[in-house]
Amino acid sequence: MIDDDSYDPLAGAGLDTLAIRTGHVRTAEGEHCEPLFLTSSYVFADSAEAAARFSGEQPGNVYSRYTNPTVRIFEERIAALEGAEQAVATSSGMAAILSTCIALLQVGDHIVCSRSVFGTTTVLLDKYLSRFGIKTTFVSLTDLDEWQQAICAETKILFLETPSNPLCDVADLSALAALAQSNEALLVVDNCLCTPALQQPLKLGADLVIHSATKYIDGQGRCMGGVVAGRSELVEEVLSFIRSAGPTMSPFNAWVFLKGLETLRLRMDAHSASALELAQWLQQQPQVEQVFYTGLTDHPGHAIAAKQQRAFGGVLSFRVKGGREQAWQVIDGTQMLSLTANLGDAKTTIVHPATTTHGRLTDEQKAETGITENLIRIAVGLEDIKDIKADLLRGLSAI
Ligand SMILES: *Cc1c(COP(=O)(O)O)cnc(C)c1O
Repeated sequence: MIDDDSYDPLAGAGLDTLAIRTGHVRTAEGEHCEPLFLTSSYVFADSAEAAARFSGEQPGNVYSRYTNPTVRIFEERIAALEGAEQAVATSSGMAAILSTCIALLQVGDHIVCSRSVFGTTTVLLDKYLSRFGIKTTFVSLTDLDEWQQAICAETKILFLETPSNPLCDVADLSALAALAQSNEALLVVDNCLCTPALQQPLKLGADLVIHSATKYIDGQGRCMGGVVAGRSELVEEVLSFIRSAGPTMSPFNAWVFLKGLETLRLRMDAHSASALELAQWLQQQPQVEQVFYTGLTDHPGHAIAAKQQRAFGGVLSFRVKGGREQAWQVIDGTQMLSLTANLGDAKTTIVHPATTTHGRLTDEQKAETGITENLIRIAVGLEDIKDIKADLLRGLSAI
């Protein structure tokens, strides 16, 4: 044992170690697994302590809308993995996006957002934030000139996901970070598809990272949650809003996510390896017209993805020869893959974006973002790759 209180065994630790050990200080019970604190409130020793806790003079728990020890471990772990000063957990990925916008923006402010973000993000910005005087201009994820032209004096946030879902377009994070900085705007990156195991946007100059923990951080499709990570001065603003508005993470969900994080890097590598193999296999199938996956060397985003990501992730899409009818035949011809819009699960999922996840888009918006009727998205899970291929072959043979 090193007898030195200042010794930090996690200083300089690798990603897996941080994902497994950050933030848990064992209680007097000596528990090995992180404890689950299912309590809404906390008891004070006397009135003076209660007063000191409420005033903030004394650190400590007051109420689980403000702090919860299990949620705090999750927040510290995400901050460590993203290389952030601080993180704050939320009840869902959408709650993380909403809380960030409300906390950091006011009436008259402007957002520039990639056109190929999660569908509900588009609805939130376009339909709801606009009602409160916060306008959004949507631009092509990959066209730096379009980002530049959309920026105006009121622009406070540049928002994007990379790679995009389902077409796997890739944005150059360093270039966008420089653009944000020179315009005194914040670069906010939804890092849900990569997770910090594959991509750390803060290290490339982003100001905030957002996750839907519901996806790969859980990894087994059980719980809803989200998180915002970055510099303390920004995260504190978001935290303050969350404490006032209430979209806090459930301690039970935080505990499930902690278990998910322990295997995050292993899972992301396995998802990525299987997705690459499946993408290459799909390219050889006669019923397939085009495959979209950043791991393929002929994908337009491949070079940037190879530079800023550790691996290419688990989501891919492909166009079958034909239209909606053929795409539906392929999907309905599979028997093992799960027909669901979720992703980031051990179970492989398959979906028809044009009539589900992107069904709300107008025909014009679909054309603009490449969501054609013959497009199928797959979020490759952790089953044996030979079985995933065999099931897809059943689907392809149905055409
Ligand atoms: C699912 C998802 C969200 C929303 O997260 P919820 O946890 O469902 O609220 C946001 N961004 C991306 C990229 C997602 O995939």
